[in-house]
Amino acid sequence: MNASPKFERLALIGFGLIGGSIARAARAHGLAGEIITTARSEKTRARIAELGIVDRVVASNAEAADGADLVILCIPVGACGPVAQEIAGHLKPGAIVSDVGSVKGAIVRDMAPHLPKEVHFVPAHPVAGTENSGPDSGFAELFINRWCILTPPEGVDAGAVDRLRAFWAALGAKVEIMTPDHHDLVLAITSHLPHLIAYTIVGTADELAQVTESEVIKFSAGGFRDFTRIAASDPTMWRDVFLNNKDAVLEMLGTFNEDLAKLTRAIRRGDGQALFDHFARTRAIRRGIVEIGQDSAAPDFGRPHPQIKQP
Ligand code: NAP
Repeated sequence: MNASPKFERLALIGFGLIGGSIARAARAHGLAGEIITTARSEKTRARIAELGIVDRVVASNAEAADGADLVILCIPVGACGPVAQEIAGHLKPGAIVSDVGSVKGAIVRDMAPHLPKEVHFVPAHPVAGTENSGPDSGFAELFINRWCILTPPEGVDAGAVDRLRAFWAALGAKVEIMTPDHHDLVLAITSHLPHLIAYTIVGTADELAQVTESEVIKFSAGGFRDFTRIAASDPTMWRDVFLNNKDAVLEMLGTFNEDLAKLTRAIRRGDGQALFDHFARTRAIRRGIVEIGQDSAAPDFGRPHPQIKQP
C-alpha cells in the first residue's frame, strides 16, 4: 500500500472552490508534474492564468483530459455525465478518472457508461467545503484533517484505488472507502438535510410579514446567522445534489418530520422533560464532534469579540 501520490499530468475539469483547492494543494505538495485545468468563459480563464497556480488553462474539457494520468471532474453533479461523454475518446489508457461530487450513486450511473474500459474509474467526495465558489475561493489547506470518501465500483483495479487514496492523503485528507449507496445515505443526514433546513429557515424568515427584514438581520446572532452561512452555498451545486440524491434525502426527511412532530407535541403539551432529554442528547453529539477534531470548541465558533479593557 505504498502507492505514489504523484502524477505526471493532472487534469482538473473545473476550477472553482474544490478544483482550485486541489490545484493549490497539489502544487504546494509537488504532487503533479503538470497541472492543466478548464474554464468555460474567457474571463475565468484569464483570472486562472493570472493566479499562476496551474501550467495551462484551456476551454476544452477533451483537450485538458488528453494525455492526463489523473483526471478529476470538479464540476456540479449534473454536469458530470455529459462531460464524461465529452472526454471519453481522449483519455489515456491506464488513466485514473475521478470526481469530487457530493452525490455518488448518480455519478456512477451517469459517468461509468461513457468511460472506456482501459481507464480506472474511482469516484471520490472530499467532505470539506465552504459557502464560497469560483476561482478565487480555493485554498491549499481545505482538505487537511477532513475526510475524503472513495466509492470504487466493484472490480476496479486495486492499484488505482491505492494511488488515488495516496493522492488525497498527501493533500491532507483522511480517506475512507464506501459503496455509493451508503455514501448517499450518510451524506443525506450529515450534509444534505442540514442544507435543506438552512435553506428553508432563511427563506421562511425572509417571508415573515410581521418581522421586518432589518430586524431579522439585526438580531441574527440569536442563531439565525449560522444558518445563513450554509444557505449562502452555491445554488447550482445544491440543486444538483437534491435532484440526484432524491431517495436518500426523502427517506431522511421522513424521519426528520416525525422527530419534528414529536418536539412540536412536547412544546404544545408543555412537556419540559421531553424537551430537556432531547436537547441533552443533541448536546452530547456536538461534544463528540469537537472531541474527534472535526470542529473547534472556541466560544461562538471562534468569532472575534471585543475585549473589556483592564483598568
Ligand atoms: P464552484 O466553486 O461553483 O465551481 C464549479 C466549477 O464547475 C466551475 O469551475 C465551473 O466553471 C464549472 N462548471 C459548472 N458547470 C459546468 C459545466 N456544465 N461544464 C463544465 N464545467 C462546469 O463549485 P465547487 O464548490 O467547487 O463544487 C464542485 C463540485 O464539488 C460539485 O460537484 C460539488 O457537489 C462538489 N463539492 C462541493 C463542496 C462545497 O462545499 N462547495 C464540498 C465537496 C464537494 P465555470 O467557471 O466555467 O462556470
